[in-house]
Amino acid sequence: MTVVAWGAGQYFMNVKNHQGFQIQRLVDGDPMKWGTIRLGYTVEDPGKVFMEVDPAQTIVLIFAPGAEADIRNTLLAYGPFPSIPMSGLPAANRSPAQDPTPPPSDALHKLLPLNTPTFVLVDPSDFCNFKCTFCPTGDEALVASRNRKNGFLSLELFRKVLDDLKAFSSKVPILSLHKDGEPYLNRNLEAMIAEAKAAKVADWVCTTTNGSFLTPERIHDTIAAGLDLMTVSIKHAHNEGYADITGTRVTYRQILESVRLVHEEKLRLHSSMQVVVRITDTGLSESERAAFASDFKPWVNQIDIGCIFGWGNSGSRDFMLGLDPKFGIDGRSPVHKGRRVCCQPFRMVCVNPDGRVSACCGDWSKALIVGDVNRERLIDIWQGEALRNIRRIHLLGLKDSLNACVGCQFMEGLPDSLDLDAHASELIEKFS
Ligand code: SF4
Repeated sequence: MTVVAWGAGQYFMNVKNHQGFQIQRLVDGDPMKWGTIRLGYTVEDPGKVFMEVDPAQTIVLIFAPGAEADIRNTLLAYGPFPSIPMSGLPAANRSPAQDPTPPPSDALHKLLPLNTPTFVLVDPSDFCNFKCTFCPTGDEALVASRNRKNGFLSLELFRKVLDDLKAFSSKVPILSLHKDGEPYLNRNLEAMIAEAKAAKVADWVCTTTNGSFLTPERIHDTIAAGLDLMTVSIKHAHNEGYADITGTRVTYRQILESVRLVHEEKLRLHSSMQVVVRITDTGLSESERAAFASDFKPWVNQIDIGCIFGWGNSGSRDFMLGLDPKFGIDGRSPVHKGRRVCCQPFRMVCVNPDGRVSACCGDWSKALIVGDVNRERLIDIWQGEALRNIRRIHLLGLKDSLNACVGCQFMEGLPDSLDLDAHASELIEKFS
């Protein structure tokens, strides 16, 4: 018997474990999503799949609440497929690190104000060894013009942040040891992971790396420290592309081999750490996208192809490399040009290596500083007037008065469930 799952968005990520079904094929009626891979699955064209399978030997699980009738009509066109509607998955089954986007029923505006931020990012290093053509931190003249200083987070200050997190009424869903730089440049990264896990202050302890420092020793130490999720940011799908994008001698093959070693070490240590590889589409061809997916598929839990986006406060240089993506960073949420309110300051705080706190992970230039953990508790910053003021500015539609947010295109591609534009007037009272 073949089990085909037909679904949308975040449901794809959980169907694998749902009710014990062994699902062989994932389909979606949206041709823009075909080829997206989640947890090792390729999303396929339903017409192609249903022509290939035997209706008498196939069950279709429907994970698209509200669209069951349309899907049944499609199924009828190909044969008498027995189908089982699934109304979606309980929130408890969703892994926030796999998809931190709330489903539509948990639309962010209904949850505000949050007592505890959904994301706390703590940046071990804002140095980076790559100079990616789509990242403002690699542009030395721009960095100097914004007076951005780089440094490393001390273990002592990190411990203070862990203590601060205990003051929130619930665990932080995601504690990410990464913001702007390459976290493995900080030799204390693995110690920080271990201490974060021991402190039990977050559901998921994660990091994002460019993968260039994943030596066997550091891979071992990271997994042994108990990291829950490692995202490896891939820059291109071949060696020449790596040189062009990163400005270094680090190669695609080197990163692929490191990710394979991560997989082997996970098996050896019986680790449940999730590994995601995410490539930014800098104009990749179909064959480059396919090569990337097939190269990494055996070694990781999830493969993402994300769209490029424009940064705030980044001057006149085109960090979108002449591209005009129709989808956001996740590669599937439509871009809403002219969106007025950004959700990021409502759901996250980010501790820079010097202890100053940014209201948003996109604040590469540190122009959105709302506090300093050297002097204040994180909970007081989260509830404080500086962050509240930034939220109010966004709700009033005045984000372009903030240097950090001028020209930011990232927020336009965040998912609809995070959209606050239509709810700004009701929210302004809550944040006044
Ligand atoms: S508009 Fe951009 S820089 Fe400003 S808070 Fe949102 S994501 Fe961050």
